[in-house]
Amino acid sequence: MADKSFNAFEMAQTQFDRVADLLDLDPSTRELLRQPLREYHFSIPVRMDDGAVKVYRGFRVQHNDSRGPCKGGIRFHPQETVDTVRALSMWMTWKCAVVDIPLGGGKGGVICDPHNLSQREQELICRGWVRQLARNVGPVSDVPAPDVMTSGQHMLWMLDEFEVIHGGKYPGFITGKPVGMGGSLGRTEATGYGVVYTVREALKQLGIDPAGTTASVQGFGNVAQFAIQLFGQMGGKVVCVSCWDQGDQTSYSFRKADGIDLEALKGITDRFGGIDKDKARDLGYEVLPGDAWLEQEADILIPAALENQITGENVQRISQQVKVIAEGANGPTTPEADRVIEERGIFLIPDFLANAGGVTCSYFEQVQCNMNYYWEKDEVLGKLDQQMTSAFKAVSELAAKRKLYTRDSAYVISIGRVAQACRNRGWV
Ligand code: NAD
Repeated sequence: MADKSFNAFEMAQTQFDRVADLLDLDPSTRELLRQPLREYHFSIPVRMDDGAVKVYRGFRVQHNDSRGPCKGGIRFHPQETVDTVRALSMWMTWKCAVVDIPLGGGKGGVICDPHNLSQREQELICRGWVRQLARNVGPVSDVPAPDVMTSGQHMLWMLDEFEVIHGGKYPGFITGKPVGMGGSLGRTEATGYGVVYTVREALKQLGIDPAGTTASVQGFGNVAQFAIQLFGQMGGKVVCVSCWDQGDQTSYSFRKADGIDLEALKGITDRFGGIDKDKARDLGYEVLPGDAWLEQEADILIPAALENQITGENVQRISQQVKVIAEGANGPTTPEADRVIEERGIFLIPDFLANAGGVTCSYFEQVQCNMNYYWEKDEVLGKLDQQMTSAFKAVSELAAKRKLYTRDSAYVISIGRVAQACRNRGWV
């Protein structure tokens, strides 16, 4: 977001154009899907704690709703741009379509920095956002969720404002709510577990028993920790993790050849996923440079931290032993690195498939809210496994049949489904 030279929306459109060619899409469908269907840009005046009024800019972009209500997060960030929101809304359309949930793509944001705002000021921004959009979002049209620097608390303030305006209870308006206030059990685990369900299926396809395989993971936050937990339950061993060190303003990798101890490491990790390096040394971890996670001799790599991490410069450092890369993070691999990964025949599970467990579980949250009946955790996770597994199988079968790179195969499926829905509705 901070890099002005990089335009995420242009990148999303370029990716789309490539797949539109592969699908031989007609000109009108291309024109429809290259742009969001609708955009809302508005001002949110807020009476600050010191009595002055500040005006914040807010957005909601609805890229496509041919398969169901739009779905996507709301970000609070000082460098938010409408082009970033447009790109993210388009990626949400493809993500929902690849896992075949009946939702479209949306994204929203407010240009603000929550670090410099009191709780009361943040509440007023949330309520102001909903006041501007109350007639254009909702359980049957567009369902927001938390994203960068927004939380379950922000979602509850937004829900409350929506319900005041509409005069009723509509818990299905927004997801990512706390459990007990309309949230779903299993949502915390969903993204990390989803990554590992797809890893399990990839290993099955390669004829490898997960028990005895090793993995190296970038990141030690929500996605990474739950991926490591489930991978361990399958008999796998994680030999290295990495994280950002707030104090040193750099990243480190933590290696233990006989396998990390998840619970012990969690015990020395802060709430932002930063591991205390002195305590890690005391526990017998080697503390290595931040990018060392990438060059470990492991069967599986799981980038689960940031975008733009496996690049043309470092992709050659990936060990010959690596057979699977599962993208827990959004956009961790650049197009240059993609070409090398494809040539080397490493099985790539692309981000919008691998990390779709989160949005799939948010869909389950919405379904439970609309019924006003909540499932047990096992039921949620069982349904999640089913959905992720069948999405994985569809992508890998098409990749094999059409000899496509898995990222292209996933795009062909999702864009193909959305294009079909637009045709079925008579839009194009
Ligand atoms: P998080 O904030 O809980 O954890 C992020 C982790 O990455 C932390 O351990 C942090 O120390 C580490 N990190 C940051 N910079 C690093 C660097 N330079 N090198 C190594 N480690 C670094 O975040 P999360 O929720 O686990 O999300 C991780 C990624 O997954 C993001 O790209 C996010 O967009 C994506 N994602 C998350 C979800 C979800 O449900 N949480 C869903 C889909 C996609």
